[in-house]
Amino acid sequence: MLSVRPVQAFADNYIWLIHSPLHPERVAVVDPGDAAPVIEELRRSDLQLAAILLTHHHPDHIGGVPELLRLAEVPVIGPKDERIATRSQTAVEGQEIELPELGLAFKTLEIPGHTLSHIAFWGHDAVFCGDTLFSAGCGRTFEGTAQQMNTSLERLRALPPHTQVYCGHEYTASNLRFARAVEPDNGACADYQAQVTRLRANGEPTLPSTLALEIQVNPFLRCDTPAVRHAAQQKAGSALTDNAQVFGVLRAWKDQFR
Ligand SMILES: [Zn+2]
Repeated sequence: MLSVRPVQAFADNYIWLIHSPLHPERVAVVDPGDAAPVIEELRRSDLQLAAILLTHHHPDHIGGVPELLRLAEVPVIGPKDERIATRSQTAVEGQEIELPELGLAFKTLEIPGHTLSHIAFWGHDAVFCGDTLFSAGCGRTFEGTAQQMNTSLERLRALPPHTQVYCGHEYTASNLRFARAVEPDNGACADYQAQVTRLRANGEPTLPSTLALEIQVNPFLRCDTPAVRHAAQQKAGSALTDNAQVFGVLRAWKDQFR
């Protein structure tokens, strides 16, 4: 299994360091919004930066890139988007991203919705999905439509169930409060909430998650289940005919949820 460690940044971001299986001291960094905590971790653990992977253009995911490039001239791989000026290599749908320095390769999935050019990196039984899929929740649809975001989430849901899910933020506890409002009778949500409460009380990350768990607890991956559809229809006050409509109602509901 892939060896990955979190670096915490800002209030609730995770920057992921992926170790090379061949040379464990070499790492790729995913979404370094801030360079300082990454540099501190590299020094503390005697690691060498070998590549930078970017899922989307938001400053809290790319802000640290210029400073990291002053430390090491490494490839910066991200989506085709002019807003990512530091990108040296573009990752497009279906493309295999080779990281020969690390002995790793990831497949690119284009998953628009949170932003239009958002991508995920999938490989070695892991997916780095930025702000599209969170544990028990999903990102806001800032640029795309509900239809696009729902399609993107359905693509992620179709990956193998044992896939480890590495998200960009620690939002699991608040996401679960919403998940339980949508599905009060979902026992998996209740169990997971107890586990998450314990982890957070100890200051531990709730990530990575797995797709198998997300399919049980994440309302945004459950738009086709009767309980979730029923809750969305109650909220909307009308019949909803497809999963994207259910998703749209859930997303709007979550945006207002406190
Ligand atoms: Zn974002």
